[in-house]
Parts: sequence; C-alpha cells; structure tokens
Amino acid sequence: MEAELRSGQTDPALALDVKRAQASTMLERLTSTLVTNAGVSASALFVTTIERGLTVAATLWFLAVVGSLLLRAFMASMLKRWETVEHAPQSALDAMTVGALLSGLAWAALPFALPGFEAIGKDGGLYLMMLGMATGAVLMGVGYSPNSLAFALPPHVSVMVSLATSGGPGGWLLALNVVALTIILIRSSRISAATFVGNVLGKLQATALADSLSSANSDILRANYRLEVLANCDPLTGLANRAAFNTALNAGISTARVREEQLALLILDLDRFKTVNDTLGHSAGDALLVEVSDRLRSAVGGTGTIARLGGDEFAIILGGSDAAEVARDLAARILERGRQPVMLDGQPTVVGTSIGLALFPLHADTAEDLFISADMALYRAKDGGRRQWREFEPAFRSQADRQNQIEQELADALDAGDLEAWFQPQVDLASEEITGFEALVRWHHPYLGPIAPPEIVAAAQAANLADRLTATIAEAACRLLNRLPALGLPRATVAINVSPREFDLYSVTDVLDRITAAHRIDPALFEIEITEEAILDTLVAGEQLKRIERSGYKLAVDDFGAGHSSLAYLVALKVDRLKLDRRFITGVHLSRQNQEIVGALVGLGRALSMEVVVEGVESEEEAHALSALGCEIAQGYFFGRPMPPERIPGWIESRRMLAERQVA
Ligand code: C2E
Ligand code: CA
Ligand code: CA
Repeated sequence: MEAELRSGQTDPALALDVKRAQASTMLERLTSTLVTNAGVSASALFVTTIERGLTVAATLWFLAVVGSLLLRAFMASMLKRWETVEHAPQSALDAMTVGALLSGLAWAALPFALPGFEAIGKDGGLYLMMLGMATGAVLMGVGYSPNSLAFALPPHVSVMVSLATSGGPGGWLLALNVVALTIILIRSSRISAATFVGNVLGKLQATALADSLSSANSDILRANYRLEVLANCDPLTGLANRAAFNTALNAGISTARVREEQLALLILDLDRFKTVNDTLGHSAGDALLVEVSDRLRSAVGGTGTIARLGGDEFAIILGGSDAAEVARDLAARILERGRQPVMLDGQPTVVGTSIGLALFPLHADTAEDLFISADMALYRAKDGGRRQWREFEPAFRSQADRQNQIEQELADALDAGDLEAWFQPQVDLASEEITGFEALVRWHHPYLGPIAPPEIVAAAQAANLADRLTATIAEAACRLLNRLPALGLPRATVAINVSPREFDLYSVTDVLDRITAAHRIDPALFEIEITEEAILDTLVAGEQLKRIERSGYKLAVDDFGAGHSSLAYLVALKVDRLKLDRRFITGVHLSRQNQEIVGALVGLGRALSMEVVVEGVESEEEAHALSALGCEIAQGYFFGRPMPPERIPGWIESRRMLAERQVA
C-alpha cells in the first residue's frame, strides 16, 4: 500500500488523508520532542561547564538550540491556528521538517562551537548525547522519515567529521561506527515511516469500507421500505392494492375465526367509469378515482381496510362482532353519498356505485369463497339496475353457474344463428292499423330451455358480445323492414332495443349505420328504444345519442315513467316517442290513479310533440280505456304476441280478414 502511495497510484483523497495523519502525529508529538530537546541541551550545557566552566561559546550554542526550539514551537502554534494539517498537510510536514533541520544543525554545531573540543576524551559524553538525541528523534518521529532524518543527520555528520578529523586510527574507527549507525538509522527511519503509512492506510481503508457498508445498508433499508410501500399501496389513491387486500382478507378471516366474530367484505364498482375515461380522458378518470377513494375513506372512518383492486373496483373489509350491521349501514351510506355529483372537467357528474356484500362465516368460510360471493352480489346489484347494494344469497351461486354457462355458449349460439329476433306488432288504437313492430331477442337453449332476454343481454355484455347481439337483431329488423312494403305496410317502423350499458361498450351508431346502409334502409323507419337511464347519463347522451339523432333514426324512450327522466334532456335529444311503462297500463281501466298518470303523460307527449306508445296491453278493456285517454299507439298480447318473422305475413292476413268480416 505504501508502494502504491509512493507511486501515486493510491486514490489521491486517500493519499491526502495519509499525509494528514502523518502531519497531525508529528504535530502532536512536537511539544514533547521540543521539551526533551531543551532538557538534553541544558544537560549538554551543564556537561560543558564541568571541564571548562560556563563559557560564552557553550552559552551561545545553547541559546541557538533553544532559539531553534522556540521557533519550532511558534511554528507549531501557527500550524495549529491555520489548521494547515487539515488544508495542506504536506506544507505542515515541510515546515516541521525545516524546523527539525534547524535544531539538527544547531546540535551539529556543538563540536565546532566549543573551543578545544576533544572528540575522544573529555567531550565523549557530549557525543553520546548528540547521537542519543538524534537516535531518539528517529525513534520518536516514526511517521515521516524526512523530518526525523532532517534532525538526526546533521549531528551524525558532525560527529563523524569531528571524529575522523580528531586524528588517530581510533577516531577513524569510531567515525566508521557512526557511519554504520547512521545507515541503520536511515533504514530504520524509512521502514518505520513505511509501516506507519501502511497502518494509516489500512485504518483509512477499513473506515471507508465500514462507511460504505453502512451507507449501503441504509440504502438497502430505504429501498426495502419503498418496495414495501410499492408492493402494498395503490400509487394513485394511496389505498391498499390487491396484494395487500389479499393479505388483509386472509388475516381478517383468521382473526374472525379465532374470536368467533363476523367479517364483512364489500366490493364496489363505479357505473360508467369507462365512459368517463373515454370521453373526458384518463386524467379525469384518475381524478374521479381519487375523489371516490377520499369519499370511501371518510365513509369508512378508519375502522376497516379499503383497497383498490384495479380499474374502478374497490373493496372494504370490516371485522368485529357487529360487522354485518356496520357493513349494511356503510353500503347504504356510500350509495347515499354517491348521489352527490363529482366535478369532472368543470361539469357536475353523478357517477353511481354498485355494491356487493358477503359475510364470513355466514356466506363463505374461506377468503376466496368470500370474495366470489361478494362478487356475485355485486353482479346482481349491477344487473338490478345499478346504484344499489346487494347482499349475497345462496341462490346466486346456481344463478351464477347458469349465467357462466350462458356467457360461454353465447358466441357459438350467435355463430350458429340460434339467437333470433321475434317481432311484436304495434297498432294504431283509433284506426287499428299496424304501425310497426318491436324486435325482441329469443334464444331457445338446447337444455336450459328459453332464456329470458335480460339474461341474454347481460351475458352478451359480460362476454363482450353486446355489439354482435345488437347487430344480429338489427339485421333481422332490416330484413323485416324490407319485406313490409310487400305485405302492404310501407310506412311501418321496426324498433330494436339498445340497453344503456351498450353505449359504454362500443359505438352503437357505427354498428347500426353499417347494417342499415347495407340493407338500404330508410333510417326514419328504423327505431331505437333506449331506457331513461341512458338519457340520464349526460356523458353518453352528449355524444352517442346525438349521433343517433344525426343519423336520422327514430328515437323512443322505453319504460317511460319507471325512472327519472329529465324533461330538459328529452327536449334536447329530440325524442320521437315515449313508451309508457307497463305498470301504468296493467289494469288501467280499474285504476283512477293510473288513468290520471297516463292522461298526464299523454298531455306531456303532446306538449313535446312526441308520440305516446303504450305497451303490455292485455285486454280489450285496457285498450278502450287507453284509447279514451288519448293514447295513439299500442302494443301487447291483446293485439299480438311476439312472433318469429315467418309468421308475420299470416298474422297480417288473418287480421285483415277479421277486420273485413267485422265490416261486413
Ligand atoms: P321491453 O323492451 O319493455 O319489451 C317488452 C317486453 O314485454 C317483452 O318481453 C315482451 O315480450 C313483453 N310483453 C309484450 N306484450 C306484453 C303483454 O301484453 N303482457 C306482458 N306481460 N308482457 C308483454 P321480453 O321479450 O321478455 O323482453 C324483456 C326485455 O328484454 C325487454 O323489455 C327489453 O328491455 C329486453 N330486450 C328484449 N330484446 C332485446 C334486445 O334485442 N336487445 C336489448 N338490449 N334488450 C332486449
Ligand atoms: Ca322495448
Ligand atoms: Ca318497455
């Protein structure tokens, strides 16, 4: 290492540190060196007085030595004050070396200063003191050999010279001995300095290693902490992520099992999150997620674990003896708060939430089962019209199995043409003429039997086949439209149903434009039925419904009166028809209240220049009552059930014959 240092290969910072160690060691020892030196020189002065008495020459010599020592002491205090050791260790070493040389020269002058100096004889003791001083200096000055040699060599040379010139072979012999001693001294001085440097280097490197190890260690700790946070925390919302959720759910179940308590799991899903993302951009979507998480935090209030499972799906875990009650309350409270609009893109928007709830051990006894149960409940909540919460029921399991099977087989069924459109006629109540048809999906499953349309629609959305389902029905509607003129109904319309969620899933207008264009259909005869829910969604209404209007299709609001349409939207959208909800129609002739409601809605339709259609008309009495209330168009079993298209010509024919017979 010292070789490295000398050859300059060592890291310069390390080399400087070694110099500092050398200089500070020298400086530390300087006081004792100077005191010893002063003491020995005083003794030397005394020795000279034994033979000669106090001489001027010896006194001057002594003063010279003491002068050099004072100079060095002064220099040492300056070095300390200026902190030269720290800033310029080599300069400090050089200064101290010069000081040592001065003292060395002063000592070397002794044989020449004293008159009648007898090298071998009365002054032999002085020689001993000179050589002793010099040797002692080398022993003391182990750190830096130039310094100790600067002091030691002049007295040695002086002793050598004066011995050699003292005459006689004895003088020469002694001089040679001193030469040998000097050589040994030089060697030992260099070896001990090198050892010192080696030790210092070793110590410095060990310290540097320890420092770097400890900083590496704290780096690792910091990185570990960051990894832990990253591994458990959703970066956008700061809520627990899926991994942390899984851990918490398992831990919660273990605790609940030991304490014989309940554990509640709520899974939440935002309605129409995708629409927000697509129409307002991802930053609006992110802002919405953050807002929702803040609301959840304040609703939950620190008692449970809230997690974001991904996308717009959240979960809450609640433990304790009253977990079920607390969870039910919480679900209701979250839905209540969800009604308050969120500002998105400067526009207040209501983004509803659907919630599924499952309880351990009531509904499931493992974490996985509990999650699946809560998810099934969530599915029901969404299916049941959204913005609601549902608690798991055992029947969901078999329903979910059935739903899964339907979802899995739907694609093949669509390919095979097993799904078909049946058509239910609509008639003019006054003239009894056929004004149009509504297409309704039908699927007779090989062993599940007939599957209810809402189930098919839900499965299509879940299996990402909603566009294909609508395309299938729209194709059938177009084929019927093209046959109607030949059946004597050139102005009859055909309606299809589009559920509100479909607008989130694909571009409805793109699909319909393509199909109606391929069949050369007049869009004014092609009708689209949407429910009020779709209209309420300002984001969807803002875009897709405007496009429907631009393409020239007829637009009908289905199940009108069941939801909460805003008149402003109805007017803004240029809705052509209102289809009154069936609940006002059933038994309308017996219910005053329903008569008043229907009458009012007919008035509303007139005021807004919208045709009013009544559906679910099952009896002649209902038909009469509705006609009297001013309803124009009716649909229902009384006039005709949904039928496959091939039965339509026969049905039209039989109806015509019936009418002719009545006239006759
Ligand atoms: P909706 O649009 O209100 O359709 C009317 C429903 O009432 C049809 O049931 C029809 O068969 C039934 N209906 C008609 N007249 C009477 C009557 O006099 N009495 C009674 N009790 N019922 C009557 P369906 O075909 O089971 O369809 C149920 C719902 O499924 C539809 O309600 C509609 O929302 C949806 N749906 C049907 N086909 C499609 C489709 O192709 N696409 C979409 N998105 N939804 C569809
Ligand atoms: Ca409908
Ligand atoms: Ca309806």
